[in-house]
Amino acid sequence: MKTGLKKIDLAKQLFAQHGYLFACPVCGERIRLDEPATLRCGNCHAFDLARQGYVNLLTGKVKASKYDQALFAARLALNQSGFFVKLLAALESSISTYAPQRRQEQLVILDAGCGEGSHLAYLVQRIQAAGRPALGIGLDIAKDGIRLAASTYADLIWCVADLARSPLRAAQCDVILNILSPANYSEFKRLMQPDGIVIKVFPGPDYLQELRTALYAGSSKATYQKEDSVQQFGQQFSPLCTQHVYYRQQLAQTDLEYLLQMTPLAWNADEATLEAIRQTGLEQITVDTTIMIGK
Ligand SMILES: [Zn+2]
Repeated sequence: MKTGLKKIDLAKQLFAQHGYLFACPVCGERIRLDEPATLRCGNCHAFDLARQGYVNLLTGKVKASKYDQALFAARLALNQSGFFVKLLAALESSISTYAPQRRQEQLVILDAGCGEGSHLAYLVQRIQAAGRPALGIGLDIAKDGIRLAASTYADLIWCVADLARSPLRAAQCDVILNILSPANYSEFKRLMQPDGIVIKVFPGPDYLQELRTALYAGSSKATYQKEDSVQQFGQQFSPLCTQHVYYRQQLAQTDLEYLLQMTPLAWNADEATLEAIRQTGLEQITVDTTIMIGK
């Protein structure tokens, strides 16, 4: 990160340079950076950059959600502890193998549903370190997630936005990431470059199984409910590769606490059960995911 500049000035630089990728979420016109720190379209729709270095491009009200500051802080801490490192290594290798190979041209990587941004920041940094210029754009509807992302990782573009009306022009993204998060396939198709790829990560049947069992032993919630189907992905994109990433991760007490704070699995559990899990601890936990790459 460049030092000496405020976060909002860094964000201004990023939008001055890459603003051509964006479209007004209201009317779809191009938007450009205007002084002092506003994105504006030809039809006078305007969006101010926030002091923390992100822009809120939502056009309507969002209903209250459990995806709040505490949840994203826990997620950031857990992600930075290396919990997902094997999954991220597989994603990094998928990007190097399947992303468009236009030489030395900047790779535009969109994380659709980026949360607090740590996965995207990690991957962009790894791709850059391997010698490929890359620009990371993170979108999420949760303002608390984007605010934390911008505060933590200043070299990427962060936007609060609705995936159903993403504020990007068509056919600009080389790689669209959608990691353990709801997708919008028709928007992904609109946003992809003709030779671009989409990388979707689904939770597998054993994903966080130890926690699921500890929370809901004996009830139907103890088993995995399939949410977003692999089959549906295959109907939308030509599959290039499917990979299973399955590992068991040691879980320190602090990481267990982060996990309990961040996972929707724990939201409906009663306090006594949560306390019992805290007391006993979980020695290890399974990360079971399927990565699907399509074009
Ligand atoms: Zn507009």
